[in-house]
Amino acid sequence: MSAEKKIDICLTMDFDAIAGWIGPRNTRSPNLVARGEFGEVGAERILQLFADEEIPGTWYIPGHTIDTYPDVCRRIAEAGHEIGYHGYCHEAPSSKRDEAEERDILDRSIDAIVRVSGKSPVGQRLPGGNLGVRWVELLIEKGFIYDSSMAPHDFEPTYLRRGDVAHKDRAYEFGQPIDFVVLPFDWNLDDWPYFTHEPATGRPGLRSPNEVFEIWADEFKYLYEKLGKGVYVLCLHPQCIGKGSRMLMLERLIQHIKQHEGVRFRTMASVAEEFRKTNPLEAGSASA
Ligand SMILES: [Zn+2]
Repeated sequence: MSAEKKIDICLTMDFDAIAGWIGPRNTRSPNLVARGEFGEVGAERILQLFADEEIPGTWYIPGHTIDTYPDVCRRIAEAGHEIGYHGYCHEAPSSKRDEAEERDILDRSIDAIVRVSGKSPVGQRLPGGNLGVRWVELLIEKGFIYDSSMAPHDFEPTYLRRGDVAHKDRAYEFGQPIDFVVLPFDWNLDDWPYFTHEPATGRPGLRSPNEVFEIWADEFKYLYEKLGKGVYVLCLHPQCIGKGSRMLMLERLIQHIKQHEGVRFRTMASVAEEFRKTNPLEAGSASA
């Protein structure tokens, strides 16, 4: 008899839609904008799949997507999914911006999320860029409890550190953990590099969904069989995963995972909250 398994599955959607093209890529090309528009179609398909499978998801939605597609975003919230921060027009926080500009982006994005969901977000995925000290301070001030933009561990939540020092002539110096959770984000479990065809950036994409199923199912298999506990975070872009063959693959993956005992589909916020409760930072550690 194998030890009891405890696996949390978080299906997360980066609903970039048009913002991902006109923001960071700064394009006005109708062809590329159309690829963003398909994000709405993909989002509808994912909503339907999650309703059929009766599973919750976590949607990182730029404020621009909410303002452009308020109806589908409202229905995402009404279906009980979590909505997290993902920029206003997919901006990365950056040392090139000043604090007032970063605050403005954050406030406008939070306002948009509150307008469709009635709730302020508690988590984020950065739309590119680095998780700088000032940005983390702003997030904590606004009541955020977690980030999902990096993966010091592929299958375990960790606490963010403050005060690392990168010595090049001796060992790396780790700072103190703070009360802010990092949930894994790993390109390996992200649909974009596998599928998105972007010749201009040298990204061929267009991989076979069966091949990607094999990678994602084997990642789950390793977690389930070898580790037995942890969190599996899949990052999906509606404009990318929303194509028919990929949607069928996603459905197959969900059904495959569901056949295993000790597996639960959850939102990222609930996993982060549980981690803080079951692994509280020791007294005396730096806190937020
Ligand atoms: Zn994005």
